[in-house]
Amino acid sequence: MLAESYHSTVVDRIKANDFTYRAGRLTIHLAHEFGFCYGVDRAVDYAYQTRKRFPDRTVFLTGEIIHNPHVNEKLRAMGIRFLSDDTDALARLGPNDVVILPAFGVTVAMLEQLEGHGCTLIDTTCGSVLNVWKNVRRYAEGGYTSIIHGKVWHEETQATASQAVRYGGRYLVVLDHGETSQVCDYIRHGGDGVAFMKPFVLAASPGFDADRDLQHIGLANQTTMLMSESLEIAERLRAAMVDRYGEPQVAERFQAFDTICSATQDRQDAVVALLRDKPVDVMIVIGGYNSSNTCNLARICAASRPTFHIADPDCLVSAGAIRHRPVGSKAEVTTTDWLPARHALSIGLTSGASTPDNLVGATIAKLTELCEVRPEKEELR
Ligand code: SF4
Repeated sequence: MLAESYHSTVVDRIKANDFTYRAGRLTIHLAHEFGFCYGVDRAVDYAYQTRKRFPDRTVFLTGEIIHNPHVNEKLRAMGIRFLSDDTDALARLGPNDVVILPAFGVTVAMLEQLEGHGCTLIDTTCGSVLNVWKNVRRYAEGGYTSIIHGKVWHEETQATASQAVRYGGRYLVVLDHGETSQVCDYIRHGGDGVAFMKPFVLAASPGFDADRDLQHIGLANQTTMLMSESLEIAERLRAAMVDRYGEPQVAERFQAFDTICSATQDRQDAVVALLRDKPVDVMIVIGGYNSSNTCNLARICAASRPTFHIADPDCLVSAGAIRHRPVGSKAEVTTTDWLPARHALSIGLTSGASTPDNLVGATIAKLTELCEVRPEKEELR
């Protein structure tokens, strides 16, 4: 069933052909790592198995299992219900209900609630997320505040933050270099703690006291952040601790473990290699607009090429119009005259860790159509 839903023969063939597809004037270069990661593969597999194993029981997901609308729609079509669609459903759960926890995990509060209702729980939390939790727990138990490089609204970061509190620790979530600068300034110079906390009011543990809680810090990341940015943020925070406390004290006051998952890193490395090694005119990045790792792939591409982050193949409206979400924007826009009309055209393609291969295959088919090249029908099945 999984193969039927998400597999693509054309993608397999392109992989076997050195990740390159040629038809007429069009060349498509696929990144060497893209699409479903091990954690997503497993989570989706568990969801299908759950539906099959409990045919007579109501099966719920707490929310999106992964950040891809097509996959979530397929699960809905199989009769799996989403607690996020119905706020009262959580209160009505009972021992006969089955609840699937998503790949990015759930908060401690949510887990306790579900356990309290006596539901059967199918936990698909990815091992790489559990690894972050392990580090955060260690920080909490050692008296270190977890500084989490992540998106405070993202389910994974919320779950990770709740782990810090579970073990008696504190956390502060920083999104980017701008927020890191504010934290570094406070570490170096101190100041008005109340004013400092204003932008972090939703991003810090209850009762966070900047004077007390920034004295010993440990770095963790949401697993899907931009690797290079996470490393820079860790280095900047370390430098601030050195300035404040001096180098000899830093080993005792600062800890950092890279918790970007290997799948995220592999996809980022592969797209960097593609941009470096192939003569790409345009990059297309396929994945849900709320998919953190897909957004970061688009960010890498946009630094050097015209880049279009599309949610699915239907976004390729015509050779003259494409719907996409620009990097850093929250809304989808339509751009016209996006496809260069030059004779030979080289397009780079990658997709996020929650994007199934069939969407990549369909995107390739659409591109051949828009470029008016005619591959053998057989090739694009
Ligand atoms: S992106 Fe990484 S952490 Fe998230 S599910 Fe995939 S492998 Fe696991």
